[in-house]
Amino acid sequence: MLLDHLQGKLAAIEAQSLTRFTRIAETGTAPHQTVRGADGVTRELLMFCSNDYLGLAAHPAVAQALIDGAHRYGGGSGASPLVSGHSRAHHEVEAELARWFAPHIPSARAIGFCTGYMANLAVITALGDAEAEIFSEALNHASLIDGTRLAKAPVKRYGHCDVEGLRALLAASTARIKLIVTDAVFSMDGDIAPLPALLAAAEDFDAWLIVDDAHGLGVLGEQGVGSLEHFGLCSERLIVMGTLGKSAGLAGAFVVAHETVTGYLLQAARNYIFSTASPPAVEHALLTSLQLMRGDLGRERRVHLRSLQAQLREGITALLSRHPSLTWRLAASETPIQPLIIGGNAEVMALAATLEREGLRVPGIRPPTVPQGEARLRITLCATHTAADVDCLVAALERCV
Ligand SMILES: *Cc1c(COP(=O)(O)O)cnc(C)c1O
Repeated sequence: MLLDHLQGKLAAIEAQSLTRFTRIAETGTAPHQTVRGADGVTRELLMFCSNDYLGLAAHPAVAQALIDGAHRYGGGSGASPLVSGHSRAHHEVEAELARWFAPHIPSARAIGFCTGYMANLAVITALGDAEAEIFSEALNHASLIDGTRLAKAPVKRYGHCDVEGLRALLAASTARIKLIVTDAVFSMDGDIAPLPALLAAAEDFDAWLIVDDAHGLGVLGEQGVGSLEHFGLCSERLIVMGTLGKSAGLAGAFVVAHETVTGYLLQAARNYIFSTASPPAVEHALLTSLQLMRGDLGRERRVHLRSLQAQLREGITALLSRHPSLTWRLAASETPIQPLIIGGNAEVMALAATLEREGLRVPGIRPPTVPQGEARLRITLCATHTAADVDCLVAALERCV
Protein backbone atom coordinates (compact mmCIF):
# COMPACT_ATOMS: atom_id res chain seq x y z
CA MET A 1 0.00 0.00 0.00
CA LEU A 2 2.66 2.46 1.03
CA LEU A 3 4.77 1.56 -2.02
CA ASP A 4 1.79 2.05 -4.39
CA HIS A 5 1.03 5.34 -2.70
CA LEU A 6 4.62 6.57 -3.06
CA GLN A 7 4.91 5.32 -6.65
CA GLY A 8 1.84 7.40 -7.48
CA LYS A 9 3.45 10.46 -5.90
CA LEU A 10 6.75 9.86 -7.70
CA ALA A 11 4.89 9.58 -11.03
CA ALA A 12 3.15 12.91 -10.34
CA ILE A 13 6.53 14.54 -9.59
CA GLU A 14 7.95 13.10 -12.81
CA ALA A 15 4.94 14.33 -14.83
CA GLN A 16 5.70 17.91 -13.74
CA SER A 17 9.40 17.60 -14.66
CA LEU A 18 10.21 17.99 -10.97
CA THR A 19 12.21 14.81 -10.35
CA ARG A 20 15.46 15.43 -8.47
CA PHE A 21 18.47 13.12 -8.51
CA THR A 22 22.01 13.04 -7.25
CA ARG A 23 25.18 12.89 -9.30
CA ILE A 24 28.40 11.41 -7.96
CA ALA A 25 31.36 13.76 -7.57
CA GLU A 26 34.51 11.71 -8.15
CA THR A 27 36.86 14.59 -7.28
CA GLY A 28 36.83 17.50 -4.81
CA THR A 29 34.90 20.76 -4.96
CA ALA A 30 36.52 22.91 -7.67
CA PRO A 31 35.51 24.68 -10.89
CA HIS A 32 36.62 21.60 -12.85
CA GLN A 33 35.18 18.50 -11.27
CA THR A 34 34.79 14.90 -12.45
CA VAL A 35 31.17 13.89 -12.04
CA ARG A 36 29.21 10.73 -12.81
CA GLY A 37 25.80 11.77 -14.09
CA ALA A 38 22.43 10.02 -13.79
CA ASP A 39 23.04 8.59 -17.28
CA GLY A 40 26.00 6.66 -15.88
CA VAL A 41 28.49 8.71 -17.90
CA THR A 42 31.46 10.22 -16.07
CA ARG A 43 32.55 13.62 -17.38
CA GLU A 44 34.80 16.45 -16.38
CA LEU A 45 32.47 19.39 -15.93
CA LEU A 46 33.00 23.11 -15.60
CA MET A 47 30.90 23.76 -12.50
CA PHE A 48 28.80 26.88 -11.94
CA CYS A 49 26.88 25.59 -8.96
CA SER A 50 28.86 25.32 -5.76
CA ASN A 51 28.59 27.84 -2.93
CA ASP A 52 32.33 27.56 -2.27
CA TYR A 53 32.58 31.21 -3.29
CA LEU A 54 36.18 31.76 -2.23
CA GLY A 55 37.45 28.39 -3.42
CA LEU A 56 38.55 27.48 0.10
CA ALA A 57 37.14 23.93 0.02
CA ALA A 58 40.13 22.79 -2.03
CA HIS A 59 42.72 25.09 -0.49
CA PRO A 60 45.78 23.03 0.54
CA ALA A 61 46.11 24.86 3.88
CA VAL A 62 42.52 23.93 4.76
CA ALA A 63 43.08 20.29 3.79
CA GLN A 64 46.32 20.22 5.83
CA ALA A 65 44.55 21.74 8.85
CA LEU A 66 41.91 19.02 8.58
CA ILE A 67 44.69 16.38 8.66
CA ASP A 68 46.37 18.09 11.62
CA GLY A 69 43.01 18.30 13.39
CA ALA A 70 42.41 14.59 12.79
CA HIS A 71 45.84 13.76 14.23
CA ARG A 72 45.09 15.80 17.32
CA TYR A 73 41.44 14.89 17.88
CA GLY A 74 40.73 11.80 15.76
CA GLY A 75 37.29 11.45 14.20
CA GLY A 76 33.99 12.30 15.80
CA SER A 77 33.24 14.47 18.82
CA GLY A 78 31.56 11.60 20.64
CA ALA A 79 28.71 13.53 22.26
CA SER A 80 26.62 16.66 22.23
CA PRO A 81 28.40 19.90 23.16
CA LEU A 82 27.03 20.04 26.71
CA VAL A 83 28.11 16.47 27.47
CA SER A 84 31.68 16.21 26.13
CA GLY A 85 31.62 17.14 22.44
CA HIS A 86 32.74 20.76 22.78
CA SER A 87 36.49 20.76 21.98
CA ARG A 88 39.15 23.45 22.26
CA ALA A 89 38.73 23.89 18.48
CA HIS A 90 34.97 24.46 18.81
CA HIS A 91 35.69 27.03 21.51
CA GLU A 92 38.28 28.85 19.38
CA VAL A 93 36.00 29.03 16.34
CA GLU A 94 33.23 30.58 18.45
CA ALA A 95 35.68 33.06 19.99
CA GLU A 96 37.06 34.03 16.57
CA LEU A 97 33.58 34.62 15.15
CA ALA A 98 32.61 36.69 18.19
CA ARG A 99 35.65 38.90 17.46
CA TRP A 100 34.58 39.30 13.82
CA PHE A 101 31.16 40.52 14.85
CA ALA A 102 32.21 42.66 17.82
CA PRO A 103 32.08 45.90 15.74
CA HIS A 104 28.53 45.05 14.65
CA ILE A 105 26.86 43.52 17.69
CA PRO A 106 27.61 44.84 21.20
CA SER A 107 28.57 42.03 23.65
CA ALA A 108 28.68 39.58 20.71
CA ARG A 109 29.02 35.87 21.45
CA ALA A 110 28.86 33.00 18.98
CA ILE A 111 27.42 29.52 19.38
CA GLY A 112 28.24 26.74 16.91
CA PHE A 113 25.90 24.28 15.19
CA CYS A 114 26.49 21.33 12.85
CA THR A 115 24.61 22.88 9.92
CA GLY A 116 22.90 26.10 8.97
CA TYR A 117 19.63 24.25 8.74
CA MET A 118 19.94 23.28 12.40
CA ALA A 119 21.08 26.74 13.45
CA ASN A 120 18.02 28.30 11.84
CA LEU A 121 15.63 25.84 13.47
CA ALA A 122 17.38 26.47 16.78
CA VAL A 123 17.27 30.23 16.83
CA ILE A 124 13.71 30.55 15.54
CA THR A 125 12.18 27.87 17.75
CA ALA A 126 14.06 28.98 20.88
CA LEU A 127 13.22 32.67 20.51
CA GLY A 128 9.86 32.25 18.78
CA ASP A 129 7.95 31.02 21.84
CA ALA A 130 4.29 31.63 22.61
CA GLU A 131 4.98 35.23 23.71
CA ALA A 132 6.58 36.13 20.41
CA GLU A 133 5.39 36.94 16.92
CA ILE A 134 7.48 36.22 13.82
CA PHE A 135 7.64 38.41 10.72
CA SER A 136 9.04 36.35 7.87
CA GLU A 137 10.24 37.59 4.45
CA ALA A 138 8.50 35.98 1.45
CA LEU A 139 11.64 34.57 -0.20
CA ASN A 140 13.26 33.15 2.93
CA HIS A 141 15.29 29.94 2.73
CA ALA A 142 13.45 26.68 3.43
CA SER A 143 15.29 26.22 6.74
CA LEU A 144 13.98 29.56 8.04
CA ILE A 145 10.48 28.63 6.91
CA ASP A 146 10.74 25.28 8.68
CA GLY A 147 11.91 27.10 11.81
CA THR A 148 8.81 29.30 11.72
CA ARG A 149 6.62 26.20 11.25
CA LEU A 150 8.11 24.56 14.32
CA ALA A 151 7.99 27.68 16.48
CA LYS A 152 5.07 28.28 18.86
CA ALA A 153 4.87 31.94 17.84
CA PRO A 154 2.33 33.03 15.22
CA VAL A 155 3.89 33.94 11.87
CA LYS A 156 3.16 36.86 9.54
CA ARG A 157 4.71 36.91 6.07
CA TYR A 158 5.79 40.15 4.41
CA GLY A 159 6.52 40.65 0.71
CA HIS A 160 9.98 40.45 -0.82
CA CYS A 161 12.00 43.46 0.43
CA ASP A 162 8.69 45.17 1.32
CA VAL A 163 9.77 47.27 4.30
CA GLU A 164 6.54 49.32 4.31
CA GLY A 165 4.46 46.13 4.41
CA LEU A 166 6.60 44.89 7.28
CA ARG A 167 6.17 48.17 9.16
CA ALA A 168 2.39 47.91 8.86
CA LEU A 169 2.48 44.38 10.32
CA LEU A 170 4.78 45.47 13.14
CA ALA A 171 2.53 48.45 13.94
CA ALA A 172 -0.48 46.14 14.23
CA SER A 173 1.29 43.64 16.48
CA THR A 174 0.70 43.46 20.22
CA ALA A 175 3.26 40.70 20.82
CA ARG A 176 5.81 41.30 23.57
CA ILE A 177 8.65 39.89 21.47
CA LYS A 178 8.78 40.64 17.76
CA LEU A 179 11.21 38.74 15.53
CA ILE A 180 11.91 39.80 11.94
CA VAL A 181 13.47 36.94 9.98
CA THR A 182 15.24 37.39 6.63
CA ASP A 183 17.91 36.03 4.32
CA ALA A 184 20.64 38.65 3.88
CA VAL A 185 21.43 37.45 0.35
CA PHE A 186 18.49 35.63 -1.21
CA SER A 187 19.78 32.22 -2.15
CA MET A 188 17.86 31.76 -5.41
CA ASP A 189 17.87 35.41 -6.54
CA GLY A 190 21.21 36.78 -5.39
CA ASP A 191 19.81 40.15 -4.33
CA ILE A 192 20.58 41.67 -0.93
CA ALA A 193 17.91 42.43 1.69
CA PRO A 194 17.51 46.12 2.65
CA LEU A 195 19.04 45.45 6.06
CA PRO A 196 19.48 49.11 7.13
CA ALA A 197 15.77 49.77 6.56
CA LEU A 198 14.82 46.51 8.25
CA LEU A 199 16.97 47.38 11.26
CA ALA A 200 15.40 50.85 11.43
CA ALA A 201 11.97 49.18 11.47
CA ALA A 202 13.16 46.84 14.23
CA GLU A 203 14.33 49.84 16.26
CA ASP A 204 11.10 51.78 15.70
CA PHE A 205 8.89 48.88 16.76
CA ASP A 206 11.09 47.29 19.44
CA ALA A 207 11.68 44.18 17.32
CA TRP A 208 14.72 41.90 16.76
CA LEU A 209 16.27 41.23 13.36
CA ILE A 210 17.38 37.66 12.61
CA VAL A 211 19.64 37.69 9.55
CA ASP A 212 20.61 34.53 7.66
CA ASP A 213 23.97 35.41 6.09
CA ALA A 214 24.67 32.02 4.49
CA HIS A 215 25.65 33.70 1.21
CA GLY A 216 27.06 36.95 2.58
CA LEU A 217 29.72 35.62 4.95
CA GLY A 218 33.12 35.66 3.24
CA VAL A 219 31.67 37.37 0.18
CA LEU A 220 30.39 40.77 1.34
CA GLY A 221 32.35 43.47 3.13
CA GLU A 222 35.98 44.46 2.79
CA GLN A 223 37.02 41.83 5.35
CA GLY A 224 34.42 39.27 4.40
CA VAL A 225 32.44 39.59 7.63
CA GLY A 226 29.33 39.65 5.47
CA SER A 227 26.21 41.73 5.14
CA LEU A 228 26.59 43.63 8.43
CA GLU A 229 30.03 44.84 7.35
CA HIS A 230 28.72 45.58 3.84
CA PHE A 231 26.12 47.96 5.27
CA GLY A 232 28.18 49.09 8.28
CA LEU A 233 25.47 48.07 10.74
CA CYS A 234 25.77 47.89 14.50
CA SER A 235 22.97 47.02 16.90
CA GLU A 236 22.15 44.87 19.88
CA ARG A 237 19.01 43.88 17.98
CA LEU A 238 20.94 41.93 15.33
CA ILE A 239 21.01 38.15 15.50
CA VAL A 240 23.09 36.62 12.70
CA MET A 241 23.22 33.05 11.46
CA GLY A 242 26.14 32.13 9.23
CA THR A 243 27.07 28.86 7.55
CA LEU A 244 30.57 27.43 7.30
CA GLY A 245 29.90 24.96 4.48
CA LYS A 246 29.73 27.66 1.82
CA SER A 247 32.41 30.35 1.55
CA ALA A 248 34.33 28.85 4.51
CA GLY A 249 34.71 25.67 2.45
CA LEU A 250 34.07 23.19 5.27
CA ALA A 251 30.88 22.52 7.25
CA GLY A 252 29.00 23.85 10.23
CA ALA A 253 27.22 27.04 11.19
CA PHE A 254 26.90 29.55 13.98
CA VAL A 255 24.59 32.07 15.53
CA VAL A 256 26.18 35.29 16.75
CA ALA A 257 24.23 37.73 18.90
CA HIS A 258 24.27 39.57 22.20
CA GLU A 259 25.65 37.15 24.82
CA THR A 260 22.30 36.97 26.58
CA VAL A 261 20.70 35.66 23.38
CA THR A 262 23.40 33.03 22.73
CA GLY A 263 23.44 32.18 26.44
CA TYR A 264 19.73 31.44 26.22
CA LEU A 265 20.19 29.37 23.02
CA LEU A 266 22.69 27.19 24.88
CA GLN A 267 20.02 26.47 27.52
CA ALA A 268 17.01 26.20 25.25
CA ALA A 269 17.91 25.24 21.66
CA ARG A 270 16.94 21.58 21.39
CA ASN A 271 19.04 20.92 18.30
CA TYR A 272 22.10 22.21 20.18
CA ILE A 273 21.38 20.15 23.27
CA PHE A 274 20.27 16.88 21.68
CA SER A 275 22.65 16.51 18.72
CA THR A 276 26.27 15.34 18.53
CA ALA A 277 28.79 18.16 18.16
CA SER A 278 30.57 18.48 14.81
CA PRO A 279 33.91 16.65 14.37
CA PRO A 280 36.64 18.67 16.13
CA ALA A 281 39.00 18.27 13.16
CA VAL A 282 36.51 20.23 11.05
CA GLU A 283 36.50 23.00 13.68
CA HIS A 284 40.29 22.93 13.76
CA ALA A 285 40.36 23.41 9.98
CA LEU A 286 37.76 26.18 10.23
CA LEU A 287 40.28 28.26 12.16
CA THR A 288 42.53 28.15 9.09
CA SER A 289 39.77 28.84 6.62
CA LEU A 290 38.45 31.78 8.67
CA GLN A 291 41.97 33.23 8.73
CA LEU A 292 42.29 32.86 4.95
CA MET A 293 38.83 34.33 4.44
CA ARG A 294 39.59 37.45 6.39
CA GLY A 295 43.20 37.92 5.29
CA ASP A 296 44.89 39.02 2.05
CA LEU A 297 43.91 35.89 0.15
CA GLY A 298 40.25 36.45 0.98
CA ARG A 299 40.46 40.09 0.01
CA GLU A 300 42.08 39.31 -3.36
CA ARG A 301 39.55 36.58 -4.04
CA ARG A 302 36.63 38.90 -3.27
CA VAL A 303 38.02 41.42 -5.77
CA HIS A 304 38.40 38.70 -8.43
CA LEU A 305 34.88 37.44 -7.70
CA ARG A 306 33.45 40.90 -8.33
CA SER A 307 35.29 41.17 -11.65
CA LEU A 308 33.93 37.74 -12.71
CA GLN A 309 30.43 38.90 -11.75
CA ALA A 310 30.76 42.02 -13.89
CA GLN A 311 32.14 40.00 -16.80
CA LEU A 312 29.31 37.46 -16.62
CA ARG A 313 26.62 40.14 -16.40
CA GLU A 314 28.11 41.99 -19.35
CA GLY A 315 28.34 38.78 -21.39
CA ILE A 316 24.77 37.66 -20.71
CA THR A 317 23.33 41.15 -21.17
CA ALA A 318 25.02 41.37 -24.59
CA LEU A 319 23.73 37.90 -25.49
CA LEU A 320 20.16 38.87 -24.54
CA SER A 321 20.38 42.05 -26.63
CA ARG A 322 21.54 40.00 -29.65
CA HIS A 323 18.41 37.83 -29.26
CA PRO A 324 15.55 40.22 -28.44
CA SER A 325 12.88 37.54 -28.87
CA LEU A 326 14.33 35.49 -26.00
CA THR A 327 12.24 35.63 -22.82
CA TRP A 328 15.23 34.86 -20.58
CA ARG A 329 15.91 37.43 -17.88
CA LEU A 330 19.06 38.00 -15.83
CA ALA A 331 18.14 38.68 -12.18
CA ALA A 332 19.36 41.98 -10.69
CA SER A 333 22.06 40.57 -8.43
CA GLU A 334 25.20 42.08 -6.90
CA THR A 335 26.52 38.80 -5.56
CA PRO A 336 28.15 35.65 -6.99
CA ILE A 337 24.64 34.16 -7.30
CA GLN A 338 23.60 35.17 -10.83
CA PRO A 339 20.29 33.54 -11.76
CA LEU A 340 19.14 33.43 -15.37
CA ILE A 341 15.35 33.15 -15.23
CA ILE A 342 14.02 30.92 -18.03
CA GLY A 343 10.36 30.21 -17.11
CA GLY A 344 9.06 26.66 -17.55
CA ASN A 345 10.33 23.63 -15.63
CA ALA A 346 10.83 21.37 -18.66
CA GLU A 347 12.48 24.22 -20.56
CA VAL A 348 15.03 24.97 -17.85
CA MET A 349 15.82 21.28 -17.30
CA ALA A 350 16.36 20.75 -21.05
CA LEU A 351 18.70 23.73 -21.10
CA ALA A 352 20.64 22.45 -18.08
CA ALA A 353 20.89 18.99 -19.72
CA THR A 354 22.23 20.48 -22.97
CA LEU A 355 24.84 22.47 -21.05
CA GLU A 356 25.82 19.34 -19.13
CA ARG A 357 26.33 17.37 -22.35
CA GLU A 358 28.60 20.22 -23.45
CA GLY A 359 30.59 19.88 -20.22
CA LEU A 360 29.07 22.63 -18.06
CA ARG A 361 27.07 22.06 -14.92
CA VAL A 362 24.60 24.86 -14.22
CA PRO A 363 21.71 23.64 -12.10
CA GLY A 364 18.10 24.22 -13.07
CA ILE A 365 16.03 25.40 -10.10
CA ARG A 366 12.31 24.69 -10.15
CA PRO A 367 9.28 25.18 -7.91
CA PRO A 368 8.75 24.89 -5.01
CA THR A 369 12.26 26.30 -4.51
CA VAL A 370 11.28 29.24 -6.75
CA PRO A 371 7.80 30.51 -7.78
CA GLN A 372 5.82 28.74 -10.51
CA GLY A 373 6.81 29.97 -13.99
CA GLU A 374 10.17 31.32 -12.75
CA ALA A 375 12.34 28.24 -13.15
CA ARG A 376 15.92 29.32 -13.63
CA LEU A 377 19.53 28.47 -14.14
CA ARG A 378 21.23 29.30 -10.86
CA ILE A 379 24.70 30.31 -11.95
CA THR A 380 27.15 30.70 -9.09
CA LEU A 381 30.67 32.03 -9.45
CA CYS A 382 33.69 31.11 -7.38
CA ALA A 383 36.95 33.00 -7.03
CA THR A 384 38.72 29.96 -8.47
CA HIS A 385 36.93 30.47 -11.81
CA THR A 386 38.95 32.24 -14.49
CA ALA A 387 37.79 34.84 -16.99
CA ALA A 388 38.11 32.09 -19.64
CA ASP A 389 35.68 29.90 -17.65
CA VAL A 390 33.10 32.70 -17.69
CA ASP A 391 33.61 33.23 -21.46
CA CYS A 392 33.08 29.52 -21.92
CA LEU A 393 29.72 29.67 -20.09
CA VAL A 394 28.48 32.66 -22.09
CA ALA A 395 29.49 30.99 -25.38
CA ALA A 396 27.72 27.75 -24.36
CA LEU A 397 24.53 29.69 -23.49
CA GLU A 398 24.68 31.39 -26.87
CA ARG A 399 24.79 27.98 -28.59
CA CYS A 400 21.61 27.01 -26.68
CA VAL A 401 19.58 30.00 -27.89
C1 LIG B 1 22.55 26.74 2.64
C2 LIG B 1 21.65 27.61 3.41
C3 LIG B 1 21.27 27.29 4.71
C4 LIG B 1 21.59 25.97 5.34
O1 LIG B 1 22.93 25.87 5.68
P1 LIG B 1 23.61 24.42 5.74
O2 LIG B 1 24.83 24.64 6.54
O3 LIG B 1 23.87 24.03 4.33
O4 LIG B 1 22.62 23.51 6.40
C5 LIG B 1 20.52 28.21 5.42
N1 LIG B 1 20.14 29.37 4.85
C6 LIG B 1 20.47 29.70 3.59
C7 LIG B 1 20.02 31.00 3.04
C8 LIG B 1 21.22 28.83 2.82
O5 LIG B 1 21.52 29.13 1.56
